[in-house]
Parts: sequence; structure tokens; C-alpha cells
Amino acid sequence: MASSGRGRLAGKNAVITGAAGGIGLETSILFAKEGANVLMTDISQGALDKALAKVKQLVPNAGRVETRLCDVSKEADVQASVEHLDGWGGLDVIFNNAGIMHSRDADALDTPEAIWDLTHNINVKGVWYGCKHAVLALRRHGKKRGSVVNTASVVALVGSATPQLAYTASKGAVLALTRELAIVHAREGFRFNSLCPAPLNTPLLQDWLGDDAAKRHRREVHFPTGRFGEAIEQAQAVLFLASDESSFVNGSDFVVDGGMSKAYVTPEGPAAAAPA
Ligand code: NAD
Repeated sequence: MASSGRGRLAGKNAVITGAAGGIGLETSILFAKEGANVLMTDISQGALDKALAKVKQLVPNAGRVETRLCDVSKEADVQASVEHLDGWGGLDVIFNNAGIMHSRDADALDTPEAIWDLTHNINVKGVWYGCKHAVLALRRHGKKRGSVVNTASVVALVGSATPQLAYTASKGAVLALTRELAIVHAREGFRFNSLCPAPLNTPLLQDWLGDDAAKRHRREVHFPTGRFGEAIEQAQAVLFLASDESSFVNGSDFVVDGGMSKAYVTPEGPAAAAPA
């Protein structure tokens, strides 16, 4: 079905990694609603099929929305995904979002090397491959503007008391490489920004918390808002960063965290200080 030709991303071609669930899926839905053509990529075809069905159900008038297997730790996979859009007129936007977190099995001083390598291969190299092949595609198609959004995390800004050193370090690397690419490619019209989410309700967080309600509560009280975020709240920020509305936003650590990284909140929360 043809794109409506309207919307904040009308006519733009986008690749999204880690698109089968969580932030990536919500962003795929929003991009499709806003007129983008979207290539949803992830590591499980079964999960991608379900995700695509959801997009098609929620956005019946979507433009081109397709899926493709892509393990972001393999450069050839990322390159093939980006080049898939050559037949659509070339990439305009890439959301390098795929990421993993191993926290339960690692003390800060005793992070297994295999966990360190796996985490960095996906969270850092995967982002770098996406950035690299996006720039090559933008140039190949003579584009005068392009937007790259990389998913980092607030833990790259404030650290975390929970042992998840490999994850935190990997997200710090995302911020650093994004900033540098933002400077290097600014005069070509290519923008690079990092998304910094705080814990939010996605399968990744659910895997980490399990069914431990007390553990969940202990985490939620650290939000001024008293709740975790939702994936759609991240997707709205990605939409802004991907669209031309953010044309002067470049190299930012775009924080979407309900104020978590700016506040120390007592267990009673801000409500305790509010007038009765
Ligand atoms: P999620 O687990 O729902 O989504 C991550 C997706 O990445 C999954 O669909 C998974 O299959 C995919 N993936 C895993 N390994 C991959 C690989 N090698 N190649 C391609 N895809 C792969 O979790 P989410 O919360 O939506 O996570 C999205 C991003 O947000 C991640 O980078 C994560 O680190 C980051 N983040 C999440 C939170 C949170 O609390 N959920 C907070 C801050 C940052």
C-alpha cells in the first residue's frame, strides 16, 4: 500500500534495529504513522513477523514496512540492511537501537570477559556499524541531510549502583562515538544524537526485574514521577530527533527519564513534600 505522503517523516526511509519489541517496535509504529517507509530488523524472524503484524494492524495506511534479519554485531548484516533501502531511494534515518544488558551475573569487579565482549559487540560495535553504513548510504544517494539516533542510557550519564559495568561502559561509548560523528559530519548535513532512556517497561526490564514486586518498587521510587517510563515516550523523542523539526539538534545526549538523572528522591517521593 502506498504511503499517505503526509506526516512528520513523509517520504523518509528508515532502518530500525532491535525493532521486534520494546522501544524499537513502538518507534516502528510511530514512524509508519508519520509517513516513513520502515525496515524493521532484529534477530528473530518469528518475533519480527509478530511485530510487523502489529504495525500493519495499527497503521493500515502505512507506506512500505518490511522486516529483515540483522544481528547488529555482524557488519555484513548491518550493511545489507542499510543497502536494502537503496532500492527505496536510499536511507534517510537510522535508529541504532538494538542492545542487551547482563546485570545479574556480574559483580562490578568480576564481570566475565565473555559478557564484556558480547555486550560491547552488540551495544557499541553494532551502533558503529549502523552509523558507518548510514553515512556511506547518505553519500551514495547524494543526500543533503540525514538523521542517526543511537540508543544509549541514563546510566552512561549518572552511573548505576547495580553491578552492570559492561552495560554502563558500552552505553558511555555510544555517547562518545555519537558526539564525535556529530561533529565530523555536521557540514554534510548528517546529524547524530543519542537517546538516553531511564528504566522503562519493556521486555528488557521485565527480564531483569522478574516478578519481584518489591524490587520493582525500590526502583520506581527513585523516579520523581514515581513510575517507570513507557516505550512510546521514548519513541516520541526518537520521532523528533529523526524528523527535520530537530534540524539544529546535533550531538546531544537526549535524556528521556522523567527527571530521574537530575534528582535524588527520598523513598517517600516528591509527593511527601507537596502541599496537602
Ligand atoms: P527489548 O529487549 O524489548 O528490545 C531490544 C531488542 O534488541 C530485542 O528485540 C532484541 O531481540 C534485539 N536484539 C538483541 N540482540 C540483538 C542483536 N545482536 N542484533 C539485533 N537485535 C538484537 O528492550 P528495549 O528496552 O526496547 O531496549 C532497546 C534499547 O534501549 C537497548 O539498547 C537498551 O539497552 C536501551 N535501554 C533500555 C532501557 C529499559 O529500561 N528498557 C533503559 C535504557 C536503555
